[in-house]
Amino acid sequence: METEATALPGGRRGLMLILSSPSGAGKTTLTRMLLQKQELDFKLSISLTTRKRRSSEADGIHYHFIDQEEFARRRDAGELLEHAEVHGNFYGTPRGQVETILSQGRDVLFDIDYQGARQVREKMPRDVVTIFVLPPSMRELRARLERRAEDSQDTIAHRLENARHEIGRWADYDYVLINDDIQKTFDDLLAIVRAERLRRPRVAKGVEDFVAALLAEDV
Ligand code: 5GP
Repeated sequence: METEATALPGGRRGLMLILSSPSGAGKTTLTRMLLQKQELDFKLSISLTTRKRRSSEADGIHYHFIDQEEFARRRDAGELLEHAEVHGNFYGTPRGQVETILSQGRDVLFDIDYQGARQVREKMPRDVVTIFVLPPSMRELRARLERRAEDSQDTIAHRLENARHEIGRWADYDYVLINDDIQKTFDDLLAIVRAERLRRPRVAKGVEDFVAALLAEDV
């Protein structure tokens, strides 16, 4: 069943912005930058994961960390908008949370992989905008993963291998950004958000009322 995004105050339909990239390409930084710009008013969808929590992460803020049994229960109960196995762990987006954000008339930001992006797009094709972030080089990707130093060497090797596979999915996305300069990439991201928020299907409701008043104007 296709879920409907509600019209925002002022008549705009809510936007579901999906950012994907291999780990280390800068997506987490871009997500943080977007959320920090309060006037943009994005609300992050917080995923469920069976992955172990990293020391820098907090439960309920970066993810809801749950075990496999709980994950399977929620998936089988139909509570997930999408779910996927990534790097040997399960990840999923709780449906209720997204519906709450959209019903508050706000836009939702997702940090999910290409499998999740495909599932959300199938369910809500009119409301989804997808962006893929590429690293400037594989060498730089490895360096970023090593600088993060939160994962073991084995995990880093596994993530690099997966990165090659994930990068191959770039053509599934609406936009592709090559992140060789975080500020420039962020500017491009802002340009995408601004333009997408102005697209006719998203503003049609508000514009209809405006045009009715415009044409009723006595000149
Ligand atoms: P990490 O374990 O490094 O936080 O994330 C690994 C990958 O899983 C990232 O590419 C991230 O975008 C993806 N991911 C995180 N949450 C979800 C989710 O709810 N669904 C899907 N499909 N992918 C997710």
